[in-house]
Amino acid sequence: MNTIVIILLAVLGAILGSFINVLIYRLPRKESIIYPASHCGNCGKHIPAYLNIPIISYIILGGKCKYCHAKIHWHHLLVEIITPLILIGLFLQYGLLNILFFKYAILCLVMIPIFFIDAFHQIIPHKLSIPLIPLGLIFALIPGNDVGVINSLIAAIIIFCFLVFLAYAYRLARKVDGLGGGDIWLLTGIAAFFGLLSMPYVVLFAALLGIIYFLIFVKNKKQGFAFGTFIAISTILWSLFGAETALSYVNLI
Ligand SMILES: [Zn+2]
Repeated sequence: MNTIVIILLAVLGAILGSFINVLIYRLPRKESIIYPASHCGNCGKHIPAYLNIPIISYIILGGKCKYCHAKIHWHHLLVEIITPLILIGLFLQYGLLNILFFKYAILCLVMIPIFFIDAFHQIIPHKLSIPLIPLGLIFALIPGNDVGVINSLIAAIIIFCFLVFLAYAYRLARKVDGLGGGDIWLLTGIAAFFGLLSMPYVVLFAALLGIIYFLIFVKNKKQGFAFGTFIAISTILWSLFGAETALSYVNLI
């Protein structure tokens, strides 16, 4: 049974990964995500279905467009591989008949495009972040959820107010924007999913990852900093580990 589910999730994940790649390309360019059908970003030629098979097409074509031979960025392959892996990880953590599987699958599926769009363009599209707020609240209403609706609502309100205050204070003090509106909506949405107790850990872990990355890889220290990228990793790891399990471990320590 488990093997069949894992195979099905692998296929579904690769297909969803392929769609996430469309979001990563089109959302920052303000293009429609439905029309036109898949096309090469360089020559604009339509990509027929038989050349649009997740993972397999990328490998067969050697990561290049069949027509103009322009390189297809490696993140396309990476997304089609990590999406199924995350779904399988969530299945092994929660099982398929658990509302938490669906809740955290949706959260992680939104975090993947946010990770890449913020890393490449330093923006977090509102189309991805804002819907997380009602979605988190809706999941909180379903029996068997790990975060109650009051917790979800209070977490979203407190995180939102706190971040707006922080952004305002930072702007007053430094005369520049430190925290973007994108980060505020994103963290408010995540708070609606995780509840109040998880949020300090998710944010601290994201900040820690960000600081390590900044110190090691960023040469120009004055350059902007895509915090959403690290929030996305932190959120995926917290979801995979299980918000409740993670909290109980943290409390043990
Ligand atoms: Zn092309």
